[in-house]
Amino acid sequence: MTLGLHITGQQGRNCLNEMNASEHADVAIVGGGAAGLLAAIWAGRTEPKRRIVILDGAKRLGAKILIAGGGRCNVTNEKVTPKDFWGSSPNAIKKVLGRLTQPQTIEFFAELGVKLKREPTGKLFPTTDKAKTVLEALLGEVERLGIEICLGHRVENIKAVTNDSGETTFEVVGPWGHLVSPRLVLATGGKSVPKTGSDGHGLELAKRLGHEITSTIYPALVPLQLTDGAPLTRLSGIALPARLQLSETSGKRIETISGDLLLTHKGLSGPAVLDMSRHWIAASADRAVRLTANWLPETDEETVQADLLDLGKRSVRAYLRERLPDRLAELLLEIAEVPLDQTGVDLTKHQRKNLVTAVCSFPLDVQGTLGFKVAEVTAGGVPLSQIDLKTMQSRLVPGLHFCGEICDVDGRIGGFNFQWAWSSGYVAGPPLMRNLLSVLFCLALLGSLSIGCSSSDSPAVDNAAGQAPTQDQMATEAMLVNAGARVEKDGNGAVVLVDFSGKPIDDNLMKRIGTLPQLQKLLLRGCAINNAMLERLGSPKELQ
Ligand SMILES: Cc1cc2nc3c(=O)[nH]c(=O)nc-3n(C[C@H](O)[C@H](O)[C@H](O)COP(=O)(O)OP(=O)(O)OC[C@H]3O[C@@H](n4cnc5c(N)ncnc54)[C@H](O)[C@@H]3O)c2cc1C
Repeated sequence: MTLGLHITGQQGRNCLNEMNASEHADVAIVGGGAAGLLAAIWAGRTEPKRRIVILDGAKRLGAKILIAGGGRCNVTNEKVTPKDFWGSSPNAIKKVLGRLTQPQTIEFFAELGVKLKREPTGKLFPTTDKAKTVLEALLGEVERLGIEICLGHRVENIKAVTNDSGETTFEVVGPWGHLVSPRLVLATGGKSVPKTGSDGHGLELAKRLGHEITSTIYPALVPLQLTDGAPLTRLSGIALPARLQLSETSGKRIETISGDLLLTHKGLSGPAVLDMSRHWIAASADRAVRLTANWLPETDEETVQADLLDLGKRSVRAYLRERLPDRLAELLLEIAEVPLDQTGVDLTKHQRKNLVTAVCSFPLDVQGTLGFKVAEVTAGGVPLSQIDLKTMQSRLVPGLHFCGEICDVDGRIGGFNFQWAWSSGYVAGPPLMRNLLSVLFCLALLGSLSIGCSSSDSPAVDNAAGQAPTQDQMATEAMLVNAGARVEKDGNGAVVLVDFSGKPIDDNLMKRIGTLPQLQKLLLRGCAINNAMLERLGSPKELQ
């Protein structure tokens, strides 16, 4: 019995129990979340005729896309840099983000019909304000490319078998049967919100295949829980800006984060707290730490001290109420042992000191987090040092690729985690087709050659300088990198240099190179090429 599933997306027929031992795919992708879908799309765009199968344990795809950003899906951010991420080294993260940049991501979605809008916070959302728009566009593209989706296909185990020639084949096993494939992508996410299907089993699969996982895996972007009966829990529902400071008990600063904070009946939430959570967990695991809040984030202890000294006969409570929510102002007075009707002139030195501390360095007695059940992302995973970042292929197991949250990369709040999923999925996709492609090798060795192609001479110019590359140009870039080329891009992401030196290049690749409108330099040192291939670049006048 064959899979026979080409209808994709949420309508996809559940092919449970339909696979038997003879099932074979060119590419098996375990996990059809943001990263898995991008890998599938870019693999499919690179080589449309191959059989790509997405296996997902969930009954419906894209649960996290749908719940993201309060149902609006914060797709990316206006500015994305490696500093917005934690986990593996910034350099490694940068390499992957640089392959599908934020402008290219916007372009990618625009071409799928999803326009994004920027909000004052810098977050980008679909103009429809509906996460469904994003998911449907991705699933539509998956369907257009004929990629198969098997819902309800949780993968329990994967066996890697390497033959005498060193070629590895994967046998992907679940209660539904098994699927054999020479290329495998683990895009199973991390452990956050396990009810969506990402329960951490993917990390276990990576381990069984020989990968090391970071020594700690912990929830990130997660609300913090205060000790039972902590006074702040009485103020549940209050939202305000604050500056959080995490330090060692010696006073040495570990991290400072400013932003909105929400007081809840269990403790603390809101963007500043979610961003701080991974630092608190990491630091408190091996030393005593102190987390404090400055409720007047634009000011400091000296200023508040001076203000209180200048109050004269004015009420201390009124001073606080002008700047803070009433209930918080009253709590701060209570903690500082200042009566509600105290005037500035009557404040003792001790009271003033207490109040300055309560306002600017309020100790937050955190006892833990709300855990993976509600965490937006997982910190830890497969270290990028074990992955070839040009292809997202494992350095340990040939044919095995990773993308998305399973990697040891977690971003701060604001669309960064999806950007990682899009970029790493994009990088993983095309190389899955490497060596599956039938490469036509060149006829004559022409030795060292460098061709200058001015953008005005290049054929198929359909984007002007200063614009983000089109999907076709991105697909071309992916094909070139997949075929072993080194590419350099300008600030807009357009390819300006292609270096194929010493690598095999074929007629088709040459034709694709000729369509890159911003290409400045093509290096073909030691490449075997013929005249017909050169003609693909246009007039021989382009030769230097
Ligand atoms: C409430 C919430 C809100 C969020 N909001 C945002 C936001 O607005 N912006 C942002 O950038 N990020 C946001 N995130 C984070 C973002 O959703 C994730 O980082 C991103 O979805 C990770 O994508 P992924 O494809 O790597 O993994 P996932 O989306 O987790 O997908 C993994 C897939 O693998 C499947 N799977 C897992 N194990 C197996 C197995 N053994 N066999 C078969 N299938 C398996 C799962 O069913 C799932 O479909 C949010 C997260 C949460 C929880």
